Formats: sequence, C-alpha cells, structure tokens
Amino acid sequence: MPNLSSLCVYCGSSNDGPESHRDMAIALGSMMAERQIGLVYGGGGVGVMGTIADAVMRGGGQVTGIIPDFLMHQEAGHSAITSLEVVGSMHERKARMAELSDGFLILPGGLGTLEEFFEMLTWRKLKLHAKPIVILNTDGFWNGLEALIQDLVDAKYARTADSALATYVDTPEAALDALEQQASASRHIASGKL
Ligand code: AMP
Repeated sequence: MPNLSSLCVYCGSSNDGPESHRDMAIALGSMMAERQIGLVYGGGGVGVMGTIADAVMRGGGQVTGIIPDFLMHQEAGHSAITSLEVVGSMHERKARMAELSDGFLILPGGLGTLEEFFEMLTWRKLKLHAKPIVILNTDGFWNGLEALIQDLVDAKYARTADSALATYVDTPEAALDALEQQASASRHIASGKL
C-alpha cells in the first residue's frame, strides 16, 4: 500500500481570490488523480475547495468531503464527489478529516484554512500525530505566515524545531513529492493517536 493514499487539503472557501490559485488547484488535483492520491477535504463546492475537488474527480480520482450540516447551504455541499459525509459539528469535521488522511497540504485560503493548519501543526508538536504538513506557498502567498512563525521562534515562544514542523514548497509537484517522501518516513514513527 502506498504511504500517501489519502491527502487532506485545507484551502479557501472563497471564489474571489486570484485566478492563479484556482489554476494551481486544478494542476494539483489532476496530479493527485494521476498519482492515485485520494483527496479528503471540507466537502464544499465553492472556492479553491470546490476547484480542487472537481479537478480530482475529472482526473478519475477519489474525493471524500466532510461537511457539518449547518454549512451544507453556505459552502454548497458537493454532491458530485465519491463520498460526502455530513457531520454534526466543526470539531467532528476536523477530527474526521485528520483521521482519514496520511498527510496535510495547505493551499491559499482564509481564516478557516489557518485554523485548520494551526491545529494540525500544534497536534504534531504535541506528538499526537506524525503526519507530514506541507504548505504550498504559491506566489509567496504564505510568506507572512512563515515570518510570523519565525517571530515566535525569535521571541522564544516557539522552538527552532517547531518552525521545521511544516515544509514550504512552491509547486504542486514539489508538494506531492515532499508529502510522499515524508509520509514514508513518518510511517515508522507514527504513534497512532489520531
Ligand atoms: P476559509 O479559509 O475561511 O475560506 O475556510 C476554509 C474552510 O475552513 C471552510 O470549509 C470553513 O468552513 C473551514 N473553517 C472555517 N472556520 C473554521 C474553524 N474554526 N474550524 C475548522 N474549520 C473552519
């Protein structure tokens, strides 16, 4: 069995971001389908989320969406995916997404994307999981995030090792390469708490 059969992608629910981000999500989605990496995501049909789900489906890949009931309307729960799980709360959604995935990839997005990223980052710091976390820093979109985390290290509120818990890359191909390589390494140290 491949080490990265299922990848959780966190990304924006807005359609109003730069078109280049949606183009990147399309390229990523078709590459995931080619490499037979299933997508786990928030289940919406809008924004970068909907774009990547559609691209994986178009490529013949597997897409699992997890959406809380109260967001079905607002985020347009996607009916044309392999499986859509409707859950009762945001906490259930995030736990399920994490549990189903072998790694986490962060694309451009907003507050929700950041929240999801920080939860997986801090859980990894606490050794609740050992799954890889990769940030796709398209057009330097996440440079400010990297700088913020470095500020925490400089102020000694975080350790240098904490800033290495996530890997920054520039292209979809580099993201999947890094995730596949790290998932294979982490398989040996995974503690199975998630
Ligand atoms: P955004 O990046 O704000 O467009 O949100 C991206 C995804 O994160 C959407 O599916 C949101 O429903 C989800 N989200 C927003 N806030 C939270 C939160 N506090 N916890 C978990 N997911 C969230």
